[in-house]
Amino acid sequence: MIIDVRKLKYSGKYDSEFTCYYTPSEGIISLPGAVLNGQVCVTGTLALHGDDVYVDGTVSCKIVGECARCLKSAEYNFSSNFSVVYATERQDEDDYLYTRGLVDLTPAVNDVLLTDFPTVIYCKENCKGICPVCGQDLNESSCDCKY
Ligand SMILES: [Zn+2]
Ligand SMILES: [Zn+2]
Repeated sequence: MIIDVRKLKYSGKYDSEFTCYYTPSEGIISLPGAVLNGQVCVTGTLALHGDDVYVDGTVSCKIVGECARCLKSAEYNFSSNFSVVYATERQDEDDYLYTRGLVDLTPAVNDVLLTDFPTVIYCKENCKGICPVCGQDLNESSCDCKY
């Protein structure tokens, strides 16, 4: 996901909108058993301030995995906002670096996915799960186990 900010400068503009799609490399989606449904979508704006590039965006994607309570298939729509700065020299430890006018959004977006992704998902908010004694799906019917 590389954005060429030189083109922006040449055209006399200092900000622009972007939309990109990408498939993260293995291990970025850290939720066990979850797979991406489609690609990760990144939309946002970038603005030039001298040599610094301010990026504000939203990362969204759809995943299919297992409900942490009942183990049935569960879908989750992930969406998270981020604001980062790309600089040609590191002034702040949170800055991302870019060279030759090419801003690669991939490391920033990977960090959003690594940091903000849920550690569990549920098939529905009030999923009752399965009985740990008899294995009955408590969404379908109750059981007489006491636990
Ligand atoms: Zn469930
Ligand atoms: Zn039971």
